[in-house]
Amino acid sequence: MRETTTAATAETARTRTPESRLDSSAILLGSSGPTSLARSTPLSRFYITTAIDYVNGRPHLGHAYEKVLADVIARFHRQRGDQTWFLTGTDEHGQKVATSAAEAKLEPQAYADQNARHFQEAWKALDVKHDQFIRTTDQRHELAVQELFRRLYDARSPKTGEPVLFEGDYEGLYCEGCEGFKQEKDLDADGCCEIHRTKPKKIRESNFFFRLSEYDDALLQHLDKHPEFIEPDYRRNEVVNVIREGLQDVSVSRPNLPWGIPLPEEIPDSAGHTAYVWADALLNYLSALGWPDRKYSLWWLAKQADIGGPGAARQDEFERLDAQGRPGAAWAGTAQPLYTNAFHLIGKDISRFHCVLWPALLLAAGVPLPRQVYVHGFIYARGERLSKSLGNVVDPVELANRFGVDALRFYLIDAIPTGRDGEFTLEQFVEHVNTHLANKLGNLASRTITLVHKYFGGKAPVEWAPDAFADPAAREALDALVAAAGVAATEVPKAYAELRLNEALEHVWNVVERANEFTDRAKPWESGKDPARRGELGTTLSALLESLRLVAIWAWPVIPRKSEQLWTLLGFSGTPLEARGDVTQPRYGAGDGRTLGASEILFPRIDLEAATKA
Ligand SMILES: [Zn+2]
Repeated sequence: MRETTTAATAETARTRTPESRLDSSAILLGSSGPTSLARSTPLSRFYITTAIDYVNGRPHLGHAYEKVLADVIARFHRQRGDQTWFLTGTDEHGQKVATSAAEAKLEPQAYADQNARHFQEAWKALDVKHDQFIRTTDQRHELAVQELFRRLYDARSPKTGEPVLFEGDYEGLYCEGCEGFKQEKDLDADGCCEIHRTKPKKIRESNFFFRLSEYDDALLQHLDKHPEFIEPDYRRNEVVNVIREGLQDVSVSRPNLPWGIPLPEEIPDSAGHTAYVWADALLNYLSALGWPDRKYSLWWLAKQADIGGPGAARQDEFERLDAQGRPGAAWAGTAQPLYTNAFHLIGKDISRFHCVLWPALLLAAGVPLPRQVYVHGFIYARGERLSKSLGNVVDPVELANRFGVDALRFYLIDAIPTGRDGEFTLEQFVEHVNTHLANKLGNLASRTITLVHKYFGGKAPVEWAPDAFADPAAREALDALVAAAGVAATEVPKAYAELRLNEALEHVWNVVERANEFTDRAKPWESGKDPARRGELGTTLSALLESLRLVAIWAWPVIPRKSEQLWTLLGFSGTPLEARGDVTQPRYGAGDGRTLGASEILFPRIDLEAATKA
């Protein structure tokens, strides 16, 4: 058993907050868990996106958490041989960026250029290997947003058949932090935004509106048929409640905000209007793929055999949803049926934009929906959300530079149950990585490799004689180790595929712990002194080397640098990225005499006192 992490405990305490509480009237849709992805043939196309970050600040640990999550998922898919496309980027328009640029005495574009670089550098430092970094000031993106508005202008609503885009006067409370209008019921007792703790501004203006109010039935119908459209289920239920309460039309343009994408000239009276920043930002998931050119379907849609995960819908299903046949009609000429395949990873603060506004905009624009929106939790520091406005940001690059990028990645994935909220304090972080990385895995590796050098001249022993153990406890511990590896070989890929990333690591570390127990029982430092026990010694070290080989493969998506270092120390060429198929299965007793590298300390222990003084 592993120690219960403080992060998990913090989450248990937090499940009673209003955000994650399930209303007793919640309608539970479909099954409660993601569909099993276990299958023998590899999936072939996986398109993953993250939220794009506002460039009005520096990347903090909250941003880093989401990007590392996405990177781990993308690496898992690349490792199993899937064709993978990982998109991230920056959101550069809107009032918030314009205001910050003015404060910095820079033109908005110069300000965006400067800050977008900070995000790109941060993801590089954290080994977040995205395939594409989109900026919403890219010209191709701007043209795609204008095309979205042209399509909205042509579209009719599902219930009344009215134009979905219409002009109206609006008076409302606008939170600049959220870049969104708030209703009184969304505010706290002081009349402040619950996320930003600031009073929203009263705004009165003439805007273009999107007739979101008519899309409730379509969205509920889609969710009923494809409950995996929103995961995890507790986030899905929140969204379903929001839709059932009734949707309001939303403003999708801003007059007098020059820092944005102008609405296309074809829309009458649109001069001086720019696209509402969300109607602009959300479109990055499509514009990055080349939409409106048909080539976007290469990643956005997939053939049935190539679908990248649960929640997929046949594209012609959308014909009935918007009552106008637009998304279906757009694909009428396609001979082979295609399925939705885009996977959006986002934080819980923006689930309404992604699970309500975005799919409704897509239906109106004639585009099939994404396959799934996965909503992750937040990282708190002593109960407070990490945010620039709350002044408690932790610099992820500084953490990675001081304590190791893999230590940080490991903490974020292992200590925070995927989907739930987590906690970050330096004390918890140091304790967690010292325990699991330095003490458990690090010691296992250095102890094993040192003994192979001492007794076998640095060559992987070929001996395999499980019956040679004089002490039955040692033999039992060996059996327990082999059994744990057998379980992990099935459960690790399944847990990664079903986005239970912390559980994948739990299975891997179960093998590490069984290996350490086996070492303690088999006592190779004793059998090494007795030439008559050579078979026992060789079997012990062979089993430990094989366990380390498997750990290097299975932990690679989370701690790629250290896994690659371990892989090399173990005497293998290439990297664990290329390990797939049979190679990922346990091969105990297949010692091959290969030459190991010299023993190195993989994970130095962090001295918290020295760390806090530094
Ligand atoms: Zn807000």
